[in-house]
Amino acid sequence: MKAEIITVGTEILLGDIVNTNSQYLAKELADLGVEVYYQGTVGDNEDRLLQSIEESLNRSDMVITTGGLGPTKDDLTKETAAKFFNQELVLDEKSWNKIEIYFNKLGKIPTENNKKQAYFPKDAIILENNNGTAPGAILRKGKKIIIVLPGPPREMKPMFEESVKPYLKSLTTEILESKTLRFYGIGESSLEEEIIDIIKEQSNPTVAPYAKDMEVTLRITAKATSKEEAINLINPVVHKIQDKVGKYIYSDDDISLEDTVAKILVSKNLTIGVAESCTGGMVSSNLINYPGISSVFMEGCVTYSNEAKMKSLGVKKETLDKFGAVSEETAKEMAEGIAKRHNTNIGLSTTGIAGPEGGSEEKPVGLVYLGIYINGKTMVKRYVFNGNRQQIRLRATKTILNDLRL
Ligand code: ATP
Ligand code: MG
Repeated sequence: MKAEIITVGTEILLGDIVNTNSQYLAKELADLGVEVYYQGTVGDNEDRLLQSIEESLNRSDMVITTGGLGPTKDDLTKETAAKFFNQELVLDEKSWNKIEIYFNKLGKIPTENNKKQAYFPKDAIILENNNGTAPGAILRKGKKIIIVLPGPPREMKPMFEESVKPYLKSLTTEILESKTLRFYGIGESSLEEEIIDIIKEQSNPTVAPYAKDMEVTLRITAKATSKEEAINLINPVVHKIQDKVGKYIYSDDDISLEDTVAKILVSKNLTIGVAESCTGGMVSSNLINYPGISSVFMEGCVTYSNEAKMKSLGVKKETLDKFGAVSEETAKEMAEGIAKRHNTNIGLSTTGIAGPEGGSEEKPVGLVYLGIYINGKTMVKRYVFNGNRQQIRLRATKTILNDLRL
């Protein structure tokens, strides 16, 4: 089903208020599998609104409007929609009663103006407003639908949730099912390049990449009449993607990197200690986000100074003097040192230059050594990350968690 959104209100056109209704509706409709083709805004003007509705319904099956349902003269959305369908408005006694009760509760008496809000085309479905006076309505002529909703978000959203959603669901037997693959260690454009053929040849399911927090996610979404059918459409595409870029996928269940790693540690009962310099506790904090980690997580140390590295982890003074705090050798001794403290299976270490100051040609800002000690063996990897201080620290954190997963 194709839909369009028209938000009505001169204050939106003039930029006096932010059009949050459009954003909310677009997202909700997408989740319901309703395709939104256009969004528009018109002022409180009957001719232009009429023209907009006409254009939209020429292109699409349905128009959803917000705004202009109030009692005043410039509120004319419902009247315009009815006019477009050539439908006469008649008083709906039940709605009028509700408006009277609403006012009485506030100790007020509704004015004649308010009566306008209780007029609807005879066959319209009236949408109750439990948070204000203006009911919404679903008008229909043949296959074309206009849904008019109030402007205030606190009235519009519950009405959409309670009445419009079930209505839209009843119109279609189609369901929408998605699977989310999460990647680390590959950028959005590289990933897209690798799987461009798969993206292009697909229309059901669709494959959509997006980047967030230094990670890339692929959402594979299928339309079908049952969940089983959707999964049967999704799975072959997932396998194709796994064949091409599987090594970068850390979750096919929309689970975060830290939770994925923490889960592995807990399920394999691998005890762990973490010694951090440049990440300043981020690695520990990420792991500790996972409930249940207490069975394996022993200790996290933020050993920022050389003294702390020596005192808490047993890093040798000669190592620090000879190679510096940001070095493969120091990272190795840190990882081994933290593992030794509690005799854990795993010891992690991070040491690097997060900047913005303190870089040199030999050791630039962004240089990070990540150490992983596992059951007697230590491996240290050298990275140079881009970005500001915070981004470098976050990249270091995510990278060591990802390396640990591998
Ligand atoms: P009322 O009965 O309050 O007059 P209405 O249905 O006639 O409601 P409008 O008069 O168009 O709606 O808008 C009322 C208020 O709702 C606006 O002043 C604004 O605060 C909010 N509003 C309207 N449209 C939007 C929108 N698209 N996005 C966010 N807020 C909106
Ligand atoms: Mg109004």
